[in-house]
Amino acid sequence: MAQTSQNKKDLAQARTKTNFDVTDMTNYLYGGPANVEQRRYIIDLIAREPIFNKDDWPWLNHTDAVKRGIAMSTRLAEIKMEHELNDLDFATMVEAIDDTLPILLHNGAFIPVINSQGSDEQIEKWIPLAEKYQIIGCYAQTELGHGSNLSQLETTATFVQETDEWEINSTTFTAAKWWIGGLGAICTHAVVQAKLIIAGKDYGAHVFVVPIRSLDNHKPFPGIQVGDIGPKAYGGFNKMENGFARFNKYRIPRENMLMRFSKVSRDGVYTKPPHAKLSYGSMVLLRSVLIRQMALYLSRATTISTRYLTVRRQFNNPTKRNDTDINPGLETQVINYPMVQNRLFPMIAQSYALFAAGSVMMEMYIGLMTGLSSGNIDTLAEVHATSSALKSYCTTIAAAGAEECRKLMGGHGYSYFTGLAHMFASIVPSNTYEGDNYVLTQQMARYLLKEVKTARTTPNKVTPYSKYVLLALNRDSFAHARCSVAKAEDWLNPDVQLAVFEHRCARLATELSDAVDAAGGMESTTWSDHNIECYRISHAHAQYVMVLWFIQSIREARNPEADEECRASPEAIAILERLSNLHALHTIQTNLADFTEDAYFNPSQCQSLRAQVKSLVASIADQAVGLVDAFDHPDFLLASALGASDGDAYQRLWDKAQTEPLNRREVCDGYEEYIRPLLKKHGELKL
Ligand SMILES: Cc1cc2nc3c(=O)[nH]c(=O)nc-3n(C[C@H](O)[C@H](O)[C@H](O)COP(=O)(O)OP(=O)(O)OC[C@H]3O[C@@H](n4cnc5c(N)ncnc54)[C@H](O)[C@@H]3O)c2cc1C
Repeated sequence: MAQTSQNKKDLAQARTKTNFDVTDMTNYLYGGPANVEQRRYIIDLIAREPIFNKDDWPWLNHTDAVKRGIAMSTRLAEIKMEHELNDLDFATMVEAIDDTLPILLHNGAFIPVINSQGSDEQIEKWIPLAEKYQIIGCYAQTELGHGSNLSQLETTATFVQETDEWEINSTTFTAAKWWIGGLGAICTHAVVQAKLIIAGKDYGAHVFVVPIRSLDNHKPFPGIQVGDIGPKAYGGFNKMENGFARFNKYRIPRENMLMRFSKVSRDGVYTKPPHAKLSYGSMVLLRSVLIRQMALYLSRATTISTRYLTVRRQFNNPTKRNDTDINPGLETQVINYPMVQNRLFPMIAQSYALFAAGSVMMEMYIGLMTGLSSGNIDTLAEVHATSSALKSYCTTIAAAGAEECRKLMGGHGYSYFTGLAHMFASIVPSNTYEGDNYVLTQQMARYLLKEVKTARTTPNKVTPYSKYVLLALNRDSFAHARCSVAKAEDWLNPDVQLAVFEHRCARLATELSDAVDAAGGMESTTWSDHNIECYRISHAHAQYVMVLWFIQSIREARNPEADEECRASPEAIAILERLSNLHALHTIQTNLADFTEDAYFNPSQCQSLRAQVKSLVASIADQAVGLVDAFDHPDFLLASALGASDGDAYQRLWDKAQTEPLNRREVCDGYEEYIRPLLKKHGELKL
């Protein structure tokens, strides 16, 4: 009991050290008090509904979990309609529920795809039905044999002119749609990617709205074999019925092909889209949403770790921040060890940077869609490439970060009751879906290769975030460029930091361009040989824009002329600047070879960089608990015995263990059957 109250005291004591207004910081993160209030209101709405209670989740098998997932899905839909909630509110409900539900792809992909690729008449027909959940949809692209390589999908949609229909066919065994969220049980319709064939000619993959199950009795229509693909890794996506489907010459009307961009007329004439990438809008949306989701995930993981490590005590080793002078009988709080701080605090900084990246990426998406609606495709390529690069980088660091947070918490970190195990299982596949994180980096690389060429021919046409390619135009001076840092404080100058990231991107892009040109160009058969460099430049670019956007968001928060919602107090700005410095410099330190291999950094700069990172990490220590409190994740959302807001970690962990069903019996099930026969094999024993 004494230990328990010490836990609470430790967290409360840590909070007293916070020297900025936590509410002010929360407002900065979520874009103003109105957004914060709305998020709290929505999370509370979910927390009050018994169907969303998380207590028995670890003991549900896949079959029971899917049924629960369906029940949760339908309640989610009802709440959305009852309260007339918008898409952002829906996303917050999903965040609060904290599990992937069968209905998620309905709002997350089915509706956005129809909205972005359907004609006005198609939107008018399908969207009202979908918004009232009179139909429930999913997004079926991936097949058993192909996912990344969209051009080789084997499902066909063949135009049957006599009846004005498409015949959807899984031409081979490997053409079966696979992994499709919502297809296994809940959906009535799917938007299906299939190769469009007219009079024997293949026009490539297009999107079709395909009825899957009867609206009367939910039975699959004849000609469709549909089911669930089974349990998934780490027990993740347990409530989601990712499904398969095979089509056997299944007919749908011609108007079920989504025809905003490409069209097929009654007499079978195909009109191609005015721009090959016009259909990318919905993909950009999904990737932009993912970036914000990663901010929420990593900030939750760091909240749990920071709070637990503040109350966890091990050894009596003195550290600079040891509080044993006040409490001589106590061991050291684990969070005081520099090694722990060095692992944890850069991830807090990364979480803040992810929030900024999520906001800017969403603004870019909205700008893109506004442009597209008036036929302006100027930003399409850049926004698409940026969202691909960031999706790959942000989901990579969030998954790695969640696992690091688990390790930071030692043995108890491996308990389900941390709230991290479930979260980790949910984050990990984000590295694969919406584009495999390695394959996806080729998008940004291809884009930058074009930018390098543009820089040489029409430099004024280089797009804003790749302007750095201009730095390398003069090969000779670029080869001799050196980092300007002369003394350790110079590292804290945001302009110096940005120059460093720009130099690295310019070099990697130019080197890749030279290598690709020497090997015969982007379309040559040797393109795959450059995959490793594509990954490198894509992640370098993502790191650059993340550093840039975090710096810009702080500048905005400091600007007295900016909107009130964007501004923050001087105390909050001061700590944000420290976080931004830590984020930028720690990212450089983690990738140091990239900055030294062309002698851009010299050895003494490397040393002063490390010293600066160490000092920044230490400077965060007193603010860590306040910084994670500012993420504003309530206990319901964290669902964590170790990371709850009162710090009562041991008591909560104890209480949770008592709920384990095994503990309902004094003698375990299996004693008579297995244990007793073994113990008695050699006769009765009296000791
Ligand atoms: C949880 C989950 C949910 C999903 N939900 C849906 C859904 O609702 N709808 C849907 O349509 N799909 C869904 N998917 C499928 C998902 O989008 C694909 O699995 C994903 O895009 C990866 O494609 P793939 O499976 O073909 O991987 P592959 O391309 O087969 O990748 C296998 C390996 O090969 C590597 N590789 C492949 N090509 C290259 C290359 N050119 N160069 C270098 N390396 C390469 C990859 O990096 C990877 O390591 C889901 C997947 C998961 C895991």
